[in-house]
Amino acid sequence: MTAPNSLAVELQPPRPELYQCDVLVVGGGPAGASAAYWLASSGVDVLVVEKKHYPREKACGDGLTPRSVLQLEEMGLAAELSVHHRYRGLRTSAYGRTIAMDWPEHPGLPSYGYVITRAELDELVARRAEKAGAVVWQGAEAVAPLSPPGSADRGPGPVTGAAPLRPAGGAIVSDKARASFTEVRARYVIVADGSLSRFGRALGTGRNREWPQGMALRGYYRSPRSAEEYIDSFLDIRDASGRVVPGYGWVFPLGDGRVNVGVGLLSTKGRGSHVNTSKLMDEFVAQVPASWCLDPRTSCGTPFGGRLPMGFGVGPRVGPDSIVVGDAAGAINPFNGEGIAYGYETGRLAAATVADALAADEPGLLAAYERSLQDIYGLYYRVARAFIGVLSRPGLMRICVNTGIYNRSLMEWLLRIMGNYLRHDELGPAEVVYKAVVALARRVPEG
Ligand SMILES: Cc1cc2nc3c(=O)[nH]c(=O)nc-3n(C[C@H](O)[C@H](O)[C@H](O)COP(=O)(O)OP(=O)(O)OC[C@H]3O[C@@H](n4cnc5c(N)ncnc54)[C@H](O)[C@@H]3O)c2cc1C
Repeated sequence: MTAPNSLAVELQPPRPELYQCDVLVVGGGPAGASAAYWLASSGVDVLVVEKKHYPREKACGDGLTPRSVLQLEEMGLAAELSVHHRYRGLRTSAYGRTIAMDWPEHPGLPSYGYVITRAELDELVARRAEKAGAVVWQGAEAVAPLSPPGSADRGPGPVTGAAPLRPAGGAIVSDKARASFTEVRARYVIVADGSLSRFGRALGTGRNREWPQGMALRGYYRSPRSAEEYIDSFLDIRDASGRVVPGYGWVFPLGDGRVNVGVGLLSTKGRGSHVNTSKLMDEFVAQVPASWCLDPRTSCGTPFGGRLPMGFGVGPRVGPDSIVVGDAAGAINPFNGEGIAYGYETGRLAAATVADALAADEPGLLAAYERSLQDIYGLYYRVARAFIGVLSRPGLMRICVNTGIYNRSLMEWLLRIMGNYLRHDELGPAEVVYKAVVALARRVPEG
């Protein structure tokens, strides 16, 4: 632990044995911090518990798309973001060809993204939530829900000494620094504890293993190309014998002398789960053009990774007094592995729903969250899951990439579809293609 963090631990007041609030948010990543920001901004008494201390590392490509930027700017963070590395689009390489594409024009989204480390980004948003009025406890882990599924304790009921809050849910929170425990009583709990979601599992969530999940690994390198205007993706990783292996790679420029380098792959119905991501990373680093200067001497440390639960493959996402958001809900876009924006968006949706339920004193209103998810993402994610299911078949990905990389228009349509930049005000080729795929997806029953 570094000196500033230990100082932060020392300066934090001891936590009481019983703490009450309207809403407890478990996890202070993008989804939790966004939920807390929007709740606090509408005057709700909200506590976020984050088990680590900011700035904390998180395995990520650190790529913010225009979708993420919009959410951050709407949280009032435009100035803070602007000092980080801004980029204009995506450059894709495969089979010896490279296509650079600017982010598509869209009336509701900015035309730029940023690359910023998650250590910096997540602290920025948590501080923003705190400034808006949220209470943030760092080094505080929610170790067990107070009302797990089937518990007799479920449902609103007075607690000794409680304010007229009628707490229903909550958690036992451990204060790691002091080895003490606090019982947090809250009317509602927002579960934002990321891809492994142990707290969510204790509340009864589960992942549909038939649906796709990603796995990815990233590391930092010092590179003379750290200020590139595009983020780079590579769709044909090869082994030492030159054979294309399943997976994709990226190099995202941080603008501070470093680049974020990573590999990812999809596992659908067991396909892809046998691939060793560390080996894939070595193979990728060995094939990235020499101009990036990626080698052991420029490496900033051992890479590490994580899972990408996608397509809303985790549920149920609404309980009697809880809502599940971000990776804990499997909110990642299956088309492109983007999860930060969907964390911000689902956190914001959950905040609006919980604020309504609190205002009306009606827990039944939580069900509106699931309806909103279905309205906004349901069909799009269904199409994405079908697309990914097809692409993860051996050989098919290769054929598609090999066809697409020779056709700029096709690649631009794909960027628009896969990045979720479809326009509702204008029917361009990408929208026409998407509509046709939707019509097909509606006919195919899902497993
Ligand atoms: C290698 C890799 C690369 C990726 N690259 C990108 C990218 O470039 N762009 C993009 O948009 N997405 C990317 N993603 C996906 C993105 O990282 C996630 O979708 C995003 O972090 C989800 O945010 P979240 O808030 O739901 O979860 P997280 O960011 O995982 O936050 C969860 C938080 O909860 C805390 N926590 C967990 N359990 C508890 C508990 N019991 N009590 C208290 N706190 C707890 C954790 O410490 C953590 O801070 C990548 C993922 C991986 C693995």
